[in-house]
Amino acid sequence: MILKVVAEQVKTCTKCPLYVTKINAVPGTGSPYAKIMFIGEGPGANEDAQGLPFVGAAGQLLDKLLEMIGLARADVFITNIVKCRPPQNRTPQENEITICKPYLQAQIATINPEIIITLGTPATQTMLGRTVSMSGIHGRIQLKEGFKFFPMYHPAAYLHKRDPQLLEDMKKDFRDLQKMIQQK
Ligand code: URA
Repeated sequence: MILKVVAEQVKTCTKCPLYVTKINAVPGTGSPYAKIMFIGEGPGANEDAQGLPFVGAAGQLLDKLLEMIGLARADVFITNIVKCRPPQNRTPQENEITICKPYLQAQIATINPEIIITLGTPATQTMLGRTVSMSGIHGRIQLKEGFKFFPMYHPAAYLHKRDPQLLEDMKKDFRDLQKMIQQK
């Protein structure tokens, strides 16, 4: 299915209660030919206002990390496990994730990325289908259903904690990502 069709379906979706409180659905942006796909948790207030993923503070940090390894937003595809903002930025609920997942699966099937970066616990657990600890799993390739997943800390984790070690770990994971792409 072409990405524009998925985006249209997302924008008119009323399958879960999140459509009631959202301003704009956020299908995702980037290249349909992207080799790298990023999956975050869900739109926040800025994303909800603009209809675009990762345009707030977490997105600015993501942009810097991408730039550090010579990538721009246009080179990758960025989306979330749920496409509408959970009220008060709460974690998406199981039923919301389950209902929204076919859109993500359609995007993954269309793009067929070489590497899928899951940002943070909800995205990583959703894609791997099991409970994980980000401190243990980040930066380690996980193979599942024919795809290569590379879990990373969510940029918002650093913005909340301001732990310099966390930022170092994130930079290391991005450099490892760069090496993986260069080996291709
Ligand atoms: N955090 C996310 O997980 N996704 C966004 O789109 C923005 C912030």
